Amino acid sequence: MSEGTFGNPEIVQEEVDILIIGGGMAACGAAYEIGPWIEAAKEKIGRELKVKLVDKAALSRSGAVAQGLSAINTYLGENDPADYARMVSNDLMGITRDDLTYDLGRHVDDSVHLFEEWGLPIWKQPGDEGKKLVEGGKPVRSGRWQIMINGESYKWIVAEAAKKALGMERIQERVFIVKLVNDKNDPNRVAGAVGFSVREHKVFVYKFKACLLVCGGAVNIFRPRSVGEGTGRAWYPVWNAGSTYAMAAEAGAELTMMENRFVPARFKDGYGPVGAWFLLFKSKAINAYGEEYLSKPEAQQLLEAYAPYNKAQVTPTCLRNHVMLNEMLEGRGPIYMDTVTALGKLAETMTPKEIKHLEAEAWEDFLDMCIGQAGVWAGENIEPEKKNSELMPTEPYLLGSHSGCCGIWVSGPEDVGAPDDWHWGYRSMTTVKGLFTAGDGVGASGHKFSSGSHAEGRIAAKGMVKFVLDNIDWQPELDTPVEELVEEIYRPVRNFLEHKDYTTAIDVNPHYITPKMLQFRLQKIMDEYVGGVATYYRTNEKMLEVAEQKLEMLKEDALKMRAKDLHELLRAWENYHRILTSEAHLKHVKFRKESRYPGFYYRMDYNFIDDENWKVFVNSTYDRKTKEWKVFTRPHVDLVEKWN
Ligand code: FAD
Repeated sequence: MSEGTFGNPEIVQEEVDILIIGGGMAACGAAYEIGPWIEAAKEKIGRELKVKLVDKAALSRSGAVAQGLSAINTYLGENDPADYARMVSNDLMGITRDDLTYDLGRHVDDSVHLFEEWGLPIWKQPGDEGKKLVEGGKPVRSGRWQIMINGESYKWIVAEAAKKALGMERIQERVFIVKLVNDKNDPNRVAGAVGFSVREHKVFVYKFKACLLVCGGAVNIFRPRSVGEGTGRAWYPVWNAGSTYAMAAEAGAELTMMENRFVPARFKDGYGPVGAWFLLFKSKAINAYGEEYLSKPEAQQLLEAYAPYNKAQVTPTCLRNHVMLNEMLEGRGPIYMDTVTALGKLAETMTPKEIKHLEAEAWEDFLDMCIGQAGVWAGENIEPEKKNSELMPTEPYLLGSHSGCCGIWVSGPEDVGAPDDWHWGYRSMTTVKGLFTAGDGVGASGHKFSSGSHAEGRIAAKGMVKFVLDNIDWQPELDTPVEELVEEIYRPVRNFLEHKDYTTAIDVNPHYITPKMLQFRLQKIMDEYVGGVATYYRTNEKMLEVAEQKLEMLKEDALKMRAKDLHELLRAWENYHRILTSEAHLKHVKFRKESRYPGFYYRMDYNFIDDENWKVFVNSTYDRKTKEWKVFTRPHVDLVEKWN
């Protein structure tokens, strides 16, 4: 095989039984779980199962947990999984799949126990230090579902176990997967995937019987608040570009709740986490006049319009945003996290040494998982015990494992009384044969977080193995010739090589557009017409129509993206995934004639919640050939009785 060059990459083809695409929490869960099955399959089929994991980055620090975390947000412990399903449903305004959340609730703790076994330090209550969770050690809870950890190396620990279980020879890092390829003989089945190395001039073509698509959610589709000197900062990890949703949609998988988005209210400019402040330090958000605005009677009145969801034990995240936005629009901003009062109160009963420790904890919360925010504090001379910090709702992100529920429609468990069309044999399989997903990929659930995504990866791994063993004699055949796939992937490189000498300034050329500029265009469209920060998250049918037209043109121009090196090739294809994900979001927002998530987005022409007509799932499919979307509803049912 000849060595590749920039314009002429080496083509590497490989056939496996199972391909895991992504290296985050869900992928690591799958890699761990599948290890023993590779061996076990020998007895059944006389050979090992061939499994491969590909990640665009390096497993130890890839995905949303890359920087580390200070808390595991889903650990049930003494809680009932039915209560967990209720909480998720309430926070996501009533439209979630209880079968998926209940199933996750009853399995997630096992992953947390494994993390502890692998060396992740989990805080314990006084007297229980050194006692493991499985031995009855009581964790320090920052909330009903969250437990505190020393988690700077969280991803490293979880990745190490995945690597050990799967073996490094089955893991390929720094390979960006561009698209799934359907089967030649069955268009509703996946048979392969293609991608390229971001370090070497190589294109990889995989064939498989089943694949787990777990590339996280989507960031940077809306113009971020941090621009100019702040470019690159966002709350959501900048390396997850909607690949999960875009590739699944192109393969024909049914998406669900793509109108949902997450707009976290975070420490301004550094996007630092607020969980520990609200839950552990018992801090409050206040307006510019020192009022705890959320508990004011006016705020409660404002939320009455969203009954019964305002009655939930914990006010849903979007409704809390709604009140915050109202404060800002009424001219009572900036909004602050009242760190001074919180730390002052805690210090009342502490010794000076304990106070120092508490202050260190406050800094460590950022250093553990969002170092940039500690930079903002240092740069702006903020000592949290002396000066409050601004809070701000961020630009929107699309995800399915944090406090959001967009994603792919998957087959659920069979034993919890769900409607028949919620499960079709193989747990975690999408509506496309052989295509599985987990974590941010699974829609209509949410609140799985790191532990839940890991657990869901494990659940999916079992489903995949079952599917593969049931289809062991099936041979995948790609519906597109390999040369055509390679040509498509390298189009941005060709655009560059062919036209680069037309002008003297490399970035100015009538024949191509740089990925960076194209990304700016996408972000501008989404921001200004689809309810980004520019319009305080507001949109309407007419604005969406304009966005639709502009996206069409952007898609045409996307064919002219250039790649002057492998880094730009990565950026080009990330953009392509972003555009399709944005389009899915737009189509869903346009279809749902209500504002289900006030505080996340407002359809100003339908600025209310309409449970009578819209307490339904909005689902969609995309036709890769005609490039058309079909958007439709599926009935929603509650499997566990809700508080409201
Ligand atoms: P990820 O873990 O994000 O993994 C995605 C993987 O896909 C990465 O390995 C990436 O490199 C790879 N990838 C992406 N595109 C491609 C492609 N095209 N080809 C190949 N590979 C690709 N959870 C908690 O429990 N506690 C917390 O405190 C907490 N805080 C959070 C804070 C932030 C800012 C965020 C964003 C999340 C937080 N979470 C927290 C949630 C948790 O991180 C996620 O739920 C979890 O990581 C989702 O797992 P995943 O596998 O779906 O995605």
